[in-house]
Amino acid sequence: MSAGATTPFERRTLHLLPLALQAEDLSLVSWLGSALAACAGFLPVQDSPLPLDRAWIDHSLGQCSSNLIVDALIERSGGRADEEWTLAITAADLCAPGRQFVFGEAALGGSWAVVSLARLHAADSDEPADIIRSRVLTESLHELGHLAGLAHCEQPGCVMVRAALPTDVDRKDAEFCPACRLSLTIALAPEPHHH
Ligand SMILES: [Zn+2]
Ligand SMILES: [Zn+2]
Repeated sequence: MSAGATTPFERRTLHLLPLALQAEDLSLVSWLGSALAACAGFLPVQDSPLPLDRAWIDHSLGQCSSNLIVDALIERSGGRADEEWTLAITAADLCAPGRQFVFGEAALGGSWAVVSLARLHAADSDEPADIIRSRVLTESLHELGHLAGLAHCEQPGCVMVRAALPTDVDRKDAEFCPACRLSLTIALAPEPHHH
């Protein structure tokens, strides 16, 4: 692996925001920060935990709307610079229009994303913690790819392939395929008119 291969995000600041998480999941958040630093070059910062806002709950489904969460996070961003991204990690079960559940959501080309732990466990098995961690990392990197403006990819194994089930996540790597990596490089390149 070349030296540049581990830093597609060029030491970009990434805030990790625990959102409606149990205390025992906070160690997962700090692990995720280190893992995203190691595999993608982010500079992780852990934000103070936020509770669940009842306004996000879709009462007919008993789930939280991922759209409403991302919108609320953008609204309370408090002037955080656009180049500083924030990934919320939540235990809340997320729904989105037309989907029974989603692993996460990102404002495409924006600065705010959310990833949920709720559906990353295969329902009928007692899976080891490292499998869950690896799925959280993969789906987090997927949402961060969307923040960079990447769409879904068809290349088997690429992190930007859309996953519907936890086992789909296991078939992906926490890595971008060459085409997505090229798109990332172009998308994240500094604008020429800036110093
Ligand atoms: Zn996606
Ligand atoms: Zn790809």
